[in-house]
Amino acid sequence: MTTDRTILINGVWEAGAEAGLPVVDPATEIEIAVVPSAGHDQVSRAIEAAAAAQPAWAALEPWRRADALRAIGACLMRHQEELAALISREVGKPLRKAREDVANAAIYLDYMAQWDRRIEGEIVPADNRNETILLNRVPIGVVAAITAWNYPLDLFIRKAAPALITGNTLVVKPTEVTPLACIRAIQLISDGNYLPAGVLNLVTGGGGVGAALSSHPLVNMITMTGHRDTGKKIMAAAAANLSRVALELGGSAPAIIWKDADLDLAADAIAFASFENTGQVCTSSERILVHEDVHDDFVERLVGRANRLRVGSPLDDVDLGPLVNRIQFRKVTEAIALAQAEGGRLRCGGHGVPSLPGKGYWVRPTVITDVTPEMSLFKQETFGPIAPIIRIASYDEAIGLANATRYGLTAFVFSNDYRLVMRAQNELRFGEIFINRSMGEALQGFHTGHMESGMGGEDGKHGVLKYTQIRSVYHSYA
Ligand code: NAD
Repeated sequence: MTTDRTILINGVWEAGAEAGLPVVDPATEIEIAVVPSAGHDQVSRAIEAAAAAQPAWAALEPWRRADALRAIGACLMRHQEELAALISREVGKPLRKAREDVANAAIYLDYMAQWDRRIEGEIVPADNRNETILLNRVPIGVVAAITAWNYPLDLFIRKAAPALITGNTLVVKPTEVTPLACIRAIQLISDGNYLPAGVLNLVTGGGGVGAALSSHPLVNMITMTGHRDTGKKIMAAAAANLSRVALELGGSAPAIIWKDADLDLAADAIAFASFENTGQVCTSSERILVHEDVHDDFVERLVGRANRLRVGSPLDDVDLGPLVNRIQFRKVTEAIALAQAEGGRLRCGGHGVPSLPGKGYWVRPTVITDVTPEMSLFKQETFGPIAPIIRIASYDEAIGLANATRYGLTAFVFSNDYRLVMRAQNELRFGEIFINRSMGEALQGFHTGHMESGMGGEDGKHGVLKYTQIRSVYHSYA
């Protein structure tokens, strides 16, 4: 992929003005690209282009915007293999799953296109005679979209599709860790002329470019997926202009495995929720609270599943690729070592795969038992293929430990006790709760974090309406 077209401003491609950032294949540790960063002037011009293009884009008939989204989805699917290869290479994701990412992006575009005729206003009764009050939904304006590295194409589309269908224009800043699939997708969109110039702009770079976007007075909304600490910085920067923020941040999902749970179902679900995408999913189960009556049985089943998962080159028929980069590798391997030093028992997994060459950021699906609330593993978001198991004896203990975090994204409950499940869904302080099933959101649902897992939420009706604001209009005809 060429990296001389990484900045798109008002329909014209430019090279980034600042030094490049390397993109490394995590399976081989080979540098696969160097992506130049946008300069300050380029960031400003991209925002100005988005602001200039916005009124005409918002004035377009909504069904025309929907047609554009569908055309983009079809284009992505025509290039599914090329995009999947990029995702697989830069994230280290098995190719078959990267293909699914592209297909999911196209489905998402089609779903969001269907909102063209569904954004409705309201008419409310007036106090005055011969007066009508209309509550109209209007776009927010210029939206800056900042993404994380674990689903590079999907996170871009998850923001772009609802922002565009509702008449906003965009400046996208993909993650500097895995920017290639997003850049290539925007090149394809630009080459296909699916959108008027200035509607979708692209700037590349790291946190500095993100910060410049977040503090710019012409940016009306920053929609970001990433780490909690970055979310706080963005919110502080946005405060200068009172720009809106939508932040989809990290989590530390608890999973309660109650004594009456279907243990095979629970073990399948937790194996997926802990190890999918090499544990690099915001909804990953990071604290597994298992009732003492079924603890040993559950651990045995989970370890069996973990050992059956194939780890290896993303180009082979495997379940898990490597971790995304050296930083993540160090963080995860240190977390495993520290957990053992603090009294945790490694039941399977650990770093390295003996059958693979020395290069690459490999960590096998890891199950650690004897984890306690005092241990670091309990307290942090590890974002790796680790299933930490905590033994619990009562419902109150389970809920207390589950809620012992400032994160509030996802929780899981496995039980067939209807009363317990209903209590738990009321008492767990999380935005998304999966009962007797693994993670995986529906695009018509609402993926939302409470507390320090963010604000805003994505998907479905609420995910699209957040890119609108209400304008009240009083019509007097007395
Ligand atoms: P990160 O916060 O390091 O980076 C995210 C983006 O923010 C990048 O594009 C980065 O360049 C940018 N950025 C960094 N500093 C910035 C600043 N000061 N101002 C503006 N932008 C700045 O996160 P990451 O490591 O890429 O992603 C991993 C995190 O994302 C995890 O915590 C994970 O749980 C979370 N995540 C959440 C969801 C969700 O939907 N809630 C989905 C995927 C990932």
